Amino acid sequence: MLRYPNLISKDSLRQPLLCYKPVRMMSEWYSLEADAKHISKERARAQKLKASQWWRTKLNQGVCHYCEAQFKPADLTMDHVVPVARGGKSQPGNVVPACRACNASKKLHTPVDLLLGGR
Ligand SMILES: [Zn+2]
Repeated sequence: MLRYPNLISKDSLRQPLLCYKPVRMMSEWYSLEADAKHISKERARAQKLKASQWWRTKLNQGVCHYCEAQFKPADLTMDHVVPVARGGKSQPGNVVPACRACNASKKLHTPVDLLLGGR
């Protein structure tokens, strides 16, 4: 009779599975995004960005990113498309000028939330 080598020994069955990785819950992702260090770092970056020529040019164009109406530069605020509290960064791809009304109505929502929420 043929004998096959014992590929799985009794000892190996007692070892914990090395490849096991727990699946992350949505709530864990949220807590990662709201990391306090990230928020303070990105807030500081936003201050620097506000002083940049790039941002001043944006303000001087005077257009709200959301309602597309024309405003005086002083009436526009810096808005993070993906909020800093949800992992967004203070960099040109994520920062837009918004009028006070649009910024206030957006709060912590991302564009996807707004689409899904129908607001
Ligand atoms: Zn607006």
